[in-house]
Amino acid sequence: MRSKIVAGNWKMNKTLTETEALLAELSAKLPDTDAMVMIAPTHVNLPGAVRNLVHSAIEVIAQNMHFAESGAFTGEISADMLLDIGVETVIIGHSERRAYFGETDGLLAKKVSAAVAKGMKAMFCFGEELEDRKSGNHFAVVESQLKNALFSLDAAAWDNIVLAYEPVWAIGTGETASPEQAQEMHAFIRKTIAEAYDTSVADDVSILYGGSVKPGNAAEIFSKPDVDGGLIGGASLVADDFVAIIKAI
Ligand code: PEP
Repeated sequence: MRSKIVAGNWKMNKTLTETEALLAELSAKLPDTDAMVMIAPTHVNLPGAVRNLVHSAIEVIAQNMHFAESGAFTGEISADMLLDIGVETVIIGHSERRAYFGETDGLLAKKVSAAVAKGMKAMFCFGEELEDRKSGNHFAVVESQLKNALFSLDAAAWDNIVLAYEPVWAIGTGETASPEQAQEMHAFIRKTIAEAYDTSVADDVSILYGGSVKPGNAAEIFSKPDVDGGLIGGASLVADDFVAIIKAI
């Protein structure tokens, strides 16, 4: 079901002590909202964050997982491990996973399927590089990322998919897609899904925008009809900024 979502990706930031302090500040300042608010701390801090937020409306989500049930995959974590500590949503395919850890659409397809098969929500990230946009190839790149990683799912599985369109050139750069560029791409994404499935799948999926969303630009981006919220990196590490972005939705 399509919902408004503001999710903070904390990446490899914050010790457990710092995580607890930021969560306490966020919980104290959390505005009344009908949007879903999520934070993704680093794996080692997930159990602590879940414990801290047990009576809170903030959902704790993971930044990554492996596709296998279990086994000899040193350094990895499984869907069951996340579910067992109360984490039910996982970010998959963040551009940093693709760029620094060699994650391909094929691998991401396996991760998404594994998450969904366990009843988890997969927040699938995708988006074009700067060269793709400059060469006018951005729609084709986004279409192929969706097709390669998601279009073998059956329609029912889309209840467990959240999309995060994150143009790589806008992540952590201070450069943001204009609200019009975001809307144009989100509408294209919905049209592509409608063609592959049907309009009800396309209309029901939440599509977040990510890439240098800040308190100053959030409201305008979120006002676009096909933008259902944001995946926030840097600004989610500062309670007042994250709270301002939640208020903007
Ligand atoms: C992200 O990493 O998903 C992200 C959107 O980062 P930032 O908001 O810092 O650009």
